[in-house]
Amino acid sequence: MSSSTASDLPRALKIGIIGFGPFGQFLAETMLRQGHSITATSRSDYSRQCAHLGISFFRDMDGFLKSGNEVILLCTSILSLSEVIQSMKFECLKQPTLFVDVLSVKEYPKHVLMQALPPESDLLCTHPMFGPESGKNGWRGLRFMYEKIRIRDEVICSSFLYIFESEGCKMLEMTCEEHDELAARSQFLTHMVGRVLTEMQIEQTPIDTKGFQKLVEVKDSTAKDSFDLFSGLFVHNRFAKQQLKNFETAFDKVKQELQQKTNETEPQQMTRSLSKF
Ligand code: NAP
Repeated sequence: MSSSTASDLPRALKIGIIGFGPFGQFLAETMLRQGHSITATSRSDYSRQCAHLGISFFRDMDGFLKSGNEVILLCTSILSLSEVIQSMKFECLKQPTLFVDVLSVKEYPKHVLMQALPPESDLLCTHPMFGPESGKNGWRGLRFMYEKIRIRDEVICSSFLYIFESEGCKMLEMTCEEHDELAARSQFLTHMVGRVLTEMQIEQTPIDTKGFQKLVEVKDSTAKDSFDLFSGLFVHNRFAKQQLKNFETAFDKVKQELQQKTNETEPQQMTRSLSKF
C-alpha cells in the first residue's frame, strides 16, 4: 500500500531565477502558468519586463538571496557561471535551498557548484534539451536530462521535476559525464555545423532540395543562440575538443578523396580531347 501523503505530492514552489536572458524568460513563462511564484535577478535590468509578467525583480543579488526562495534556478551563460557564483553571499539565504542549473554543459557546473554551495543546500543539475525556438509550441516529447547530485528534500526536488514531466517532457536521468559525452557528439556538432554554415552565408535558392532546406534550418536555429552559449559548449565540455578534431579530420579526408578523384579524372579527359586532333 502506498504511504504517500498530500504533502508528498508536487506543489507550487517559490523559484528564484538568476539570469533573466532568453532562456530564463522562456522557462519563467511556463512556471508562472503552472502557478509557481517567481522572483528574478540578472546582470541587466529586467524590472519592466518582470513587472509586466508579475515577477519580483531584484537589482541586487543580496536582496534576491534574502527573498526566501525554495529553489534557485541558475540560467546564466556557461561562461559567466563562475563570476556569478562568486558574487553570491550564501549567508544571505534564509533556508536550505535547492539549487538547479540548466547550463548546456554539465560536468562544469556540477564541479563549480559542489565547491561553492553551502553544505545544507541541495543540488540538481539539469539540461532541458530544447530552447525558445524548439519549445515554442509546447514541450511534449522534448528531452529533459537531469542528475540528482545532492538531494535531501525530495518533495521540493520532485515538485521541480514535475514542472517538466507535467508538460510531457521525456525525462532522462543520467550522469553529468554521460551527458557531456553525448552532447559533444550531438548538440555541439549541430552548433558547430550551424556556425560554419552561417560563416558561409548559405541562403535558400529557388531549387532547394529537402536536404538543403534542413541545412538552412540548422543554420537559422543555431544562429539564434548567443555566441557565448556556443563557445561555452566548447570551452567547458572536455569531450567537445575531440569532436572538433574529428570534424577537421573528416573534412580533410573528404576533401582529399575529392582531390584524388579529380586527379584521376583530369588526365583521362585530357587524353580524350587530345586524341581528337
Ligand atoms: P546565454 O547567452 O547562454 O546566457 C544569457 C544569460 O547570461 C543572461 O541572463 C545574461 O544576463 C547572463 N550573463 C551573460 N554574461 C554575464 C556576466 N558576465 N555576468 C552575469 N550574467 C551574465 O543565453 P540563454 O539562451 O539565455 O542561455 C542561458 C543558459 O541556459 C545557458 O547556460 C545555456 O547553456 C542554457 N540553456 C539554453 C538553452 C537555449 O536554447 N537557449 C537551452 C538549454 C539550456 P543579462 O541578460 O542580465 O545580461
